[in-house]
Amino acid sequence: MNISAARAISGSASQATEHFDVLIVGAGISGIGSAYHLTKQLPDTSFVILESQQTFGGTWWTHKYPGIRSDSDLHTFGYSFKPWVGPPIASAAEILAYMGEVIADNDLGRHIRYGHRIVSASWSSESKLWTIAAVKSDNDEPVTFTANFLWMCQGYYRHSEGYTPEWQGMKDFKGRIVHPQCWPEDIVLDGKQVVVIGSGATAATLIPNIADHCAHVTMLQRSPTFFRLGRNAIEIAEELRRLQVKEEWIHEIVRRKILFEQDAFTRRCLSEPEQVKKELIGQISAVLGPDFDVGTHFTPSYRPWRQRIAFVPDADFFHAVKDGKASVVTDEIERFVENGILLKSGKTLEADVIVTATGFHLSILGDIAFAIDGEPLDFAETVTYRGMMFTGVPNMAWVFGYFRASWTLRTDLVADFVCRMLAHMKQKGAGKVEVALRPEDHNMPLLSWIDPENFNPNYLMRDMHRLPKRGDKVEWQHSQDYWAEKDQFPAIDLDDKAFVYG
Ligand SMILES: Cc1cc2nc3c(=O)[nH]c(=O)nc-3n(C[C@H](O)[C@H](O)[C@H](O)COP(=O)(O)OP(=O)(O)OC[C@H]3O[C@@H](n4cnc5c(N)ncnc54)[C@H](O)[C@@H]3O)c2cc1C
Repeated sequence: MNISAARAISGSASQATEHFDVLIVGAGISGIGSAYHLTKQLPDTSFVILESQQTFGGTWWTHKYPGIRSDSDLHTFGYSFKPWVGPPIASAAEILAYMGEVIADNDLGRHIRYGHRIVSASWSSESKLWTIAAVKSDNDEPVTFTANFLWMCQGYYRHSEGYTPEWQGMKDFKGRIVHPQCWPEDIVLDGKQVVVIGSGATAATLIPNIADHCAHVTMLQRSPTFFRLGRNAIEIAEELRRLQVKEEWIHEIVRRKILFEQDAFTRRCLSEPEQVKKELIGQISAVLGPDFDVGTHFTPSYRPWRQRIAFVPDADFFHAVKDGKASVVTDEIERFVENGILLKSGKTLEADVIVTATGFHLSILGDIAFAIDGEPLDFAETVTYRGMMFTGVPNMAWVFGYFRASWTLRTDLVADFVCRMLAHMKQKGAGKVEVALRPEDHNMPLLSWIDPENFNPNYLMRDMHRLPKRGDKVEWQHSQDYWAEKDQFPAIDLDDKAFVYG
């Protein structure tokens, strides 16, 4: 690969096409982490990060609902290279501040172009380059870049709007309907009856954070979800801090402890699901007391870990329920009515404001129109190499993190792989790499991106048919297993027949 400084290669002053060795899509936790590794491991590589929003942060900038926080610990959601020094569950503002420090400490800001929404990316086999078309959000000006390698860090959902199902009668409702992903600045909840539709981490975060000033808030769920409860603190971190151990060491020790415990927990969910289920529900009963009907409201029908399990720090959501400021209704929506929601049971839930915490629109690779040599690319027709690369798609890697472990653990692993791959290409004098099924893979069954028996959140189930395919061999799937991949990825043989160089 041509490791050169960025240069303008054509066009007028305002529409010059700039060239970079690597183009990173997105300045969320993945894009910033990838840029960090690139600068450390391949400092001579020219690169740019294009970000459609006006600042960095991705998820942590988009979501502004009251109480917005992580649902996994920041020791592992934070990067391996930057110690997390606060309590494990962090607010969006704290995560943004942490990312801001990474950008400032490593002078990454000069590589980021904000307000650049990428609309298309076309690969040319002749020039061995991607041509990326973007639109500037401030003046709609089109801008074009070329890059040898595309590093896709665009996350997995559409940032511009959340997913709200169509219910009958929505237009009849006289109050306000709000999706947490687009939280309005002007909304006043004081003294209002609020219904939050949804049972996941967003509902459980939002409710205790608005319960004090609403007249009442009700969580309306079709079916219950698993939660884990605990203190928002890690004892060993507190103890090591008291002993004045260096933050770098504390970060490493706490990461290892958390990862060890998560691994054990995941294995238990698979080997003794009923026992784990009992323990998780037991934690909730202990807060709500023996008279609360946890059987109806907090006993999911699926086994633990088939969907992400949100951590509820200091059981704040359950305390809001116990104190009577919040309540839970497990029922189905018949239709919206003028003054609230009519339920299938015949009961009406009165509401001034309805919050639809109903999830995301899956966005496959940033809603970018991809083409290979002029032919539109349908990712559903490709097969994934370890959830990072795709058959027939040259010079591209995708960062898709973990569901059962912190997303960022995979950002770090993929970054090491991509940097190793870029160095290998340079050493070989190759301008192109793509993955292809090996002769022994040709009879392999092609399956959906993820096994629904293994993990099945609604936003993935709705759009699974649009995602790349998976094979039945470890190379051709996103295993969702950090504990296996942390050893497998560094050992990937870059001269394996799955990699085709040109
Ligand atoms: C409320 C909430 C809480 C979460 N909590 C956790 C947690 O505690 N732990 C955990 O592991 N995971 C959590 N997740 C999942 C979380 O989204 C990921 O862990 C992580 O933040 C994803 O980071 P990312 O950088 O890959 O993607 P994102 O945060 O989605 O960032 C992608 C960026 O790419 C930009 N982009 C996308 N398309 C384009 C385009 N076409 N052109 C230019 N720019 C583009 C977007 O604007 C965005 O800034 C949470 C998700 C949500 C919604």
